Amino acid sequence: MDFEKASIERLREGAQMSELYYQQPLLICYSGGKDSEVILDLVLKAGIDFEVQHSHTTADAPETVYHVRKRFKELEDKGINCVINYPYYKGQRTSMWKLIQQKKMPPTRLMRYCCAVLKETAGQNRCIVTGVRRAESVKRKSSGIIEEKHNDINKRIIINNDNDEKRQIVERCQMQSKIAYNVIADWDNDTVKDYISSNPIDLNPLYQCGFNRVGCIGCPMANKKRAFEFAHYPKYRDMYIRAFDKMLEIRKTEGKSNYSWHSGIDVYHWWMQDGVLPGQMSIDGENDW
Ligand code: SF4
Repeated sequence: MDFEKASIERLREGAQMSELYYQQPLLICYSGGKDSEVILDLVLKAGIDFEVQHSHTTADAPETVYHVRKRFKELEDKGINCVINYPYYKGQRTSMWKLIQQKKMPPTRLMRYCCAVLKETAGQNRCIVTGVRRAESVKRKSSGIIEEKHNDINKRIIINNDNDEKRQIVERCQMQSKIAYNVIADWDNDTVKDYISSNPIDLNPLYQCGFNRVGCIGCPMANKKRAFEFAHYPKYRDMYIRAFDKMLEIRKTEGKSNYSWHSGIDVYHWWMQDGVLPGQMSIDGENDW
């Protein structure tokens, strides 16, 4: 199968659907990761009308923020409309750190409230293109990134950007009146790698720093990879700890249980599942041993 040709055809079909149903160009959801780069390259080859949007999660690595800005500048110079969405919660600008206090709990893989607020805000009443791939789901299992578990597989939460083996090429979201074209859903990792090496694609520099994903730093879905991310970005770890500290104060004021947590550091160790118990000390770098 010629994956490139098939995906370009899907993009052309998506562009027609977008004009037909929404009278607007196709909207490309760009994360700053390698799959998004492949999509952008394909959409330029498809020769269709499109717009690009990126959701700034506030927990992105600085390299990703700069890479997105650079990429958008290049696209805007070509006359393509690019939008960066900043997150709002209850009508106010928010961030990962504020949201933790507002929700009064840390985000976990079973309570991914952050994705709904920080990432999944765009594309209502639009035909969108995502870079989700089924193969990433398999890769996650072998790379320490965990899948959300639910006894009933049909009740698992799947968010727009989730890579899951059940993802279809075309999906509809009735609630948000959205049609999603997952045009590279059937590409495996080698196909993506080959495409990147045979096309002039400028990747996010994080891939050269040992990262194999470029999502939010500390994403609960990244499981054990988070220790590596926080070793690279200790200030993000500190921001989570400060947010957990404030969260505990709010919980206390409202008479909610703080369980055995005495401080944000206790919450952090619980959240990281690193085996450090509340009140127990840990030494920087000991996990590296
Ligand atoms: S990618 Fe992870 S950390 Fe970021 S918003 Fe989604 S669940 Fe939350």
